[in-house]
Amino acid sequence: MTVSVTGATGFIGRRLVQRLQGDNHRVCVLTRSRSEAQLIFPVRDFPGIVIAEEAEWKGCIQGSNAVVNLAGMPISTRWSPEIKKEIKRSRIRVTSKVVDLINDSPDEIRPSVLVSATAVGYYGSSETQVFNEQSPSGNDYLAEVCREWEATALGVNKNVRLALIRIGVVLGKDGGALAKMIPLFMMFAGGPLGSGRQWFSWIHLDDIVNLIYEALCNPSYKGVINGTAPNPVRLGEMCEQLGSVLGRPSWLPVPDLALKAVLGEGANVVLEGQKVLPARAKELGFTFRYTYVKDALRAIMSQ
Ligand code: NDP
Repeated sequence: MTVSVTGATGFIGRRLVQRLQGDNHRVCVLTRSRSEAQLIFPVRDFPGIVIAEEAEWKGCIQGSNAVVNLAGMPISTRWSPEIKKEIKRSRIRVTSKVVDLINDSPDEIRPSVLVSATAVGYYGSSETQVFNEQSPSGNDYLAEVCREWEATALGVNKNVRLALIRIGVVLGKDGGALAKMIPLFMMFAGGPLGSGRQWFSWIHLDDIVNLIYEALCNPSYKGVINGTAPNPVRLGEMCEQLGSVLGRPSWLPVPDLALKAVLGEGANVVLEGQKVLPARAKELGFTFRYTYVKDALRAIMSQ
């Protein structure tokens, strides 16, 4: 099949593109910058890949069987009012563009599947509640972003199968939260971030890529699907496991302040978590390769 991917140049997208090409699917990288994308996907390693800037997205989408929508400004940065605006605007803008291009396609060349990212931030944060796909949305800023992001994707033509993946904290070596946590952790000799009681709903990079891949191929995958591992942990345990895998002591707490100094308000993503279970993925029979955080961290650190 041919798959168009926004955000293909990012942490999750890069691995997804490798997986799709490895299985002989054709991939169109929908990007804001061809030159940047060409550095990430050099033709010698990615023969046949199509790289399209925004003006060319229409031609790619109309020739594709499926679209994956991952684009959005990174949220784990310092949040100024302008950045907060752009975190939301970037997601709504790209999703809205993708939806319009799909909807405007003639029936015979319209993609039949849209897999669109959203986040567990939809549920808000809590140290006591357990969330599944039926749970209501929270009332903080990230919950609002996720609601609008999802509502925009829901505007897609009703004949297109839509899977909305509420992604947890993706663990991998070359990006995401872990790449930011490791240096902090090393600097402070490890230990819990903040109180350590916050929930950390994680998923290994390979598993989120497999889940997106399944959602592309399997007609039963539709509606909201949480992209989190079956065993979320409290942040204290996550840090203990990370310390053990890195061979660092984990008794000295990393102060909230240190994290906030690095991430600004974006630190809330780590400091205020939620316990999210993958109820739909389990119902659908999805097999997680990594169900325990220790195994996931060991695998990542031994890469
Ligand atoms: P990245 O930040 O690594 O990549 C996202 C991509 O979005 C970039 O490669 C870029 O592609 C595009 N992008 C960046 N800024 C903007 C902007 N201002 N406007 C439009 N496009 C932009 O994301 P991840 O791979 O980590 O995540 C993919 C999606 O999943 C994101 O939307 C993220 O919010 C969501 N998610 C990720 C989680 C994680 O732990 N990684 C957790 C929960 C949700 P290009 O430059 O080619 O246009």
